[in-house]
Amino acid sequence: MPASPSVLPNDPSWWFADAMKQERGEAPAPALSGEITADVAIVGGGYTGLWTALALKARKPDLSIALIEAGLCGSGASGKNGGKVHGYWASLQGMEKSIGADAALSVARAGTVAQDGIRAFATAPGRDAWWREAGNLRVSAAPAQDAKIAGYVETARRLGVPEAARELSAAEMAHYCRSPVFRGGVFLQEGANVHPARLARALRKAAIEAGVKLYENTAMTGLDKGSPNRVRTAKGQIVAREVVVATNCELASLKEAKPHVTVFSSYAVMSNPAPEELAAMNWTGEEGISDMRMFVHYFRKTVDGRVLMGSGSGPIAYDGDTSLPRLRQDAASAARAERGLYRLLPAFREIGIEKSWGGAIDISADRLPFFKTLPGSRVHYALGYSGHGVNPTYIGGQCLASLVLGEKDMWSSLPLCTREVPSLPPEPFRFIGGRAVRRAILACEDAEERNATPSPVAVAVAAIPRLFGLRIGTR
Ligand SMILES: Cc1cc2nc3c(=O)[nH]c(=O)nc-3n(C[C@H](O)[C@H](O)[C@H](O)COP(=O)(O)OP(=O)(O)OC[C@H]3O[C@@H](n4cnc5c(N)ncnc54)[C@H](O)[C@@H]3O)c2cc1C
Repeated sequence: MPASPSVLPNDPSWWFADAMKQERGEAPAPALSGEITADVAIVGGGYTGLWTALALKARKPDLSIALIEAGLCGSGASGKNGGKVHGYWASLQGMEKSIGADAALSVARAGTVAQDGIRAFATAPGRDAWWREAGNLRVSAAPAQDAKIAGYVETARRLGVPEAARELSAAEMAHYCRSPVFRGGVFLQEGANVHPARLARALRKAAIEAGVKLYENTAMTGLDKGSPNRVRTAKGQIVAREVVVATNCELASLKEAKPHVTVFSSYAVMSNPAPEELAAMNWTGEEGISDMRMFVHYFRKTVDGRVLMGSGSGPIAYDGDTSLPRLRQDAASAARAERGLYRLLPAFREIGIEKSWGGAIDISADRLPFFKTLPGSRVHYALGYSGHGVNPTYIGGQCLASLVLGEKDMWSSLPLCTREVPSLPPEPFRFIGGRAVRRAILACEDAEERNATPSPVAVAVAAIPRLFGLRIGTR
């Protein structure tokens, strides 16, 4: 098992490189120069910004919208994620604890509306975003993970939605995918895989076609809140009544958001193609799979017979500082993803990997996103996707559109807009504590996979978040 990855993590992701190759030299949108006026200025050209632009145009076609993106649309997390698309049925248990049963169900139902919306978009004629949909499997891959299976199934039953989570024996699990370490699991109905960067680039194209004025290679350098607001860039500015800031982890250092969010990182490796090995292990369906670690391994196939294996175990940033190289270049985290691939799907030891990469993820205190308006302003923002944003950014786009338009509807009434988001300990305790707990949990989960007993110190430190009633860092 490699202690360092076969390929050091670096940008662009395999997905983004593939999407750009497919576009064969599509020119970037022009950079902004001079002053322009728009009804709405959107900052950030990932899923959140682009879904918001499309939601606004669908509801109010005459609205003028200008969207600026620091690099190219989709070059952030939206073009480098695992492409696993599902809402919140898998999170019912945690959500019930943090926001209550009714609110949990309303969020899960909103996720299903989002799933329908993304499917309709991704599969529309002329789009090739590799949408494949057959459900979502959570698998126990160590004895210590077995107990979690009941949590999914019992919560779904108690909340009156038993069809949302069906228990699978080891034999039933092998029917979907055979592995010497799979022990049984849960089948969750809602789940698809997508080519994340092609989805982001298709959203970009749709936004342009809908009349959104797009400027790439244009970073916001300042924001003067007022009536109107002014979004400043190096060579120009946008004067706009409404502003949506959709810059993902960059927002973690915003004064209003800082208490509620910390920045970790997630890493992925893309294997070489191996369709015969996939067939030999029975993985012929389109289900995506994740294990039941807290620092989860998430994995899925591609249409050309590769496996993407991700590990949500990357380092934490101090004080939301997204410039830290370890959020994108941590060899140890990429090696963990690669070791996960070889342990969970041993046939891939002979196949090897082609690429690895990593990126920052915005973890909120209750692991749910929040969509808010800065007090006393017309500036709206989204944050806290917690490593799970492909489906939720559609919800984010709808919620932000409702906030911009001042509409009281199913989106702006969701707990994702209305709840009081819990706070995390302040810095430096957040960083020091977060780093210690991360190391302890990794040590416990690694030991459990080896059927070894974790050290008592690691067990004690890993239990700290639970003692303080935090949802983040709780196994
Ligand atoms: C390795 C990895 C794997 C993941 N896997 C999954 C998964 O399988 N399933 C899932 O649901 N979620 C996954 N996620 C999370 C998901 O990718 C994100 O939650 C989601 O893409 C967030 O979208 P966004 O538009 O908010 O952010 P982004 O896509 O990051 O977009 C923000 C954009 O803002 C731009 N920007 C930043 N600052 C400025 C500025 N000053 N001016 C202008 N533009 C700016 C950036 O360049 C960027 O393009 C994963 C994340 C990572 C990193």
